[in-house]
Amino acid sequence: MADKVLLVKFGEIAMRGDNQYIFINRLILAIRRNLDPVGNYYVVREPGRLIVEDRGGEMDYDLVIPRVEPIFGLVALCPGIRLQEMSMDAIKEEALRHMQELYGDKPMTFKVNARRSNKGFGVASMQIAADVGEYILDHMSNMTVNVKTPDVVLNIEVRNRIYMYSKIIKTYGGLPYGSSGKGVSLLSGGIDSPVATWMMAKRGVEVEGVYFHSPPYTSEWAKQKVIDLAKRIADFTGEFKLYVVPFTDLQLYLLENVPHDKLTIHLKRAMMRAAEKIAEKDGAWSLITGESVGQVASQTMQGIYAINAVCNMPVLRPLAGMDKQEIINIGTKIGTYDISIRPYEDCCTIFVAKHPQIKPRLNVIERIERKLTDLDKYLEEAVENAEIIEL
Ligand code: ATP
Ligand code: MG
Repeated sequence: MADKVLLVKFGEIAMRGDNQYIFINRLILAIRRNLDPVGNYYVVREPGRLIVEDRGGEMDYDLVIPRVEPIFGLVALCPGIRLQEMSMDAIKEEALRHMQELYGDKPMTFKVNARRSNKGFGVASMQIAADVGEYILDHMSNMTVNVKTPDVVLNIEVRNRIYMYSKIIKTYGGLPYGSSGKGVSLLSGGIDSPVATWMMAKRGVEVEGVYFHSPPYTSEWAKQKVIDLAKRIADFTGEFKLYVVPFTDLQLYLLENVPHDKLTIHLKRAMMRAAEKIAEKDGAWSLITGESVGQVASQTMQGIYAINAVCNMPVLRPLAGMDKQEIINIGTKIGTYDISIRPYEDCCTIFVAKHPQIKPRLNVIERIERKLTDLDKYLEEAVENAEIIEL
């Protein structure tokens, strides 16, 4: 007899030492949070593994796997079985049943991998593998052994209990969400910043989003897009706090008071300042942007230099060295790309310079800004009037 379970593998190397206990607890909490709403599940620890069992009956993998898959810090999920007995007979019988159920009678090659960490079990790993392999060969005429490139690897792990699985679903890796401090991400409706946000969340950074909204120059559709992107990120992180900061007044103020070719740089500097105010208020340690070196006029090295100069916090730019196509590939994989490319119409482009300065000089930018005596007031107001959306 055997029960269906889900074996969960996590990145062991990143989790050595004192942190391991905290990290594993975070993973267990995340699994529970995602599964509790849909059933009666239990998570058991085994060295190097977590085992999810269904206390409410036979496990439905189609329900469980999509809910565990997005959790950061996990490297693979293996739908498998846990034996009720500790004997070679049970292993052989269940191994055969497993292979028959999953790999019917199509011609296939296989091998058996056995790992015995429980030395109390009398049979050595090599022997388990050999005996089970032979037993399957005897009972399944469609199977032949291939140790180098088998179609199927049947894994048998003899621990406190005996586990078996042959399917390994690779997941995202990374670190448990929230284990690396907090960062505030400048989240636009574009392709890049949702990917950047996701990448830092994957490294364990608790992320919050800030979106600068300038109605009527940016439409409600644009805002809805950002909300939908935030929701998608929350599928991975479990929660997401989004600030929608009204930026129209500030933007109009800049439009009137700075040279048009430098407008973008001043605007980005204002965004960074506002984001940093929110970050300080919320106990974050960093800002996150979707900037990629050389992608657009404001993302030249000089542009980044001039924008970065207003920040006291480290600005994390996980896409800095990536090509657009690489960013799109990630966006597609994580389901943000389709939302990002949704068409919408903004009613005008008065804020976009035809010929933006591509090599702004910081001293010039600062000289202009010193004359913007109302800038701080506009910044304070924008942050104060931010709408907070909890997802
Ligand atoms: P994205 O695809 O993320 O919109 P982009 O290629 O359009 O980026 P820029 O417009 O130069 O590049 O913006 C650079 C970064 O500044 C963005 O990745 C994002 O982090 C931030 N940003 C730009 N506009 C906004 C906005 N309206 N609200 C919040 N953050 C923004
Ligand atoms: Mg953009």
